[in-house]
Amino acid sequence: MAYRPTPQIKTTAPALAEVRAVYEELAARPIERSCEGRTECCHFKLTGKTPLLTKGEALLAAKALRAAGRTRVPETTNEASGACPMLDARNRCIIYESRPFACRTHFCAAAGGPYSRREVLDLIRRLEVVDFQLNGTGPHALGVALREALLQT
Ligand code: SF4
Repeated sequence: MAYRPTPQIKTTAPALAEVRAVYEELAARPIERSCEGRTECCHFKLTGKTPLLTKGEALLAAKALRAAGRTRVPETTNEASGACPMLDARNRCIIYESRPFACRTHFCAAAGGPYSRREVLDLIRRLEVVDFQLNGTGPHALGVALREALLQT
């Protein structure tokens, strides 16, 4: 079959709708995980992992950040632990409903451990298609991705 590139889109609304649909489908999957909001996985220097966001995810998170009254990525609440800048002073995620895919799949051991890539590969592919449609350049670390996205929201 001949290669046919995915058409680019001119507005972000359909892209953000697709990102939300991916998140909803993930939540509907019969895989035993239960995030209890412990935020252990939100301390990147402790876990050794920083969430990577595709462009659609970053735009959705940036929109949520603006809705929370922020116009820039906040300073981290704990430099030593590498606390995610989305954690507020009470250690809660300020964009929880719009948190990126990685935050939904890289669960801590207490929540049942991370998804295997095989379990969610189809959803990752859909996020990659959105990234391409938005002229993204692939996944970027949370802070960088959010700062760039804020310039466009
Ligand atoms: S975006 Fe929210 S859930 Fe994800 S690492 Fe940051 S604080 Fe945690």
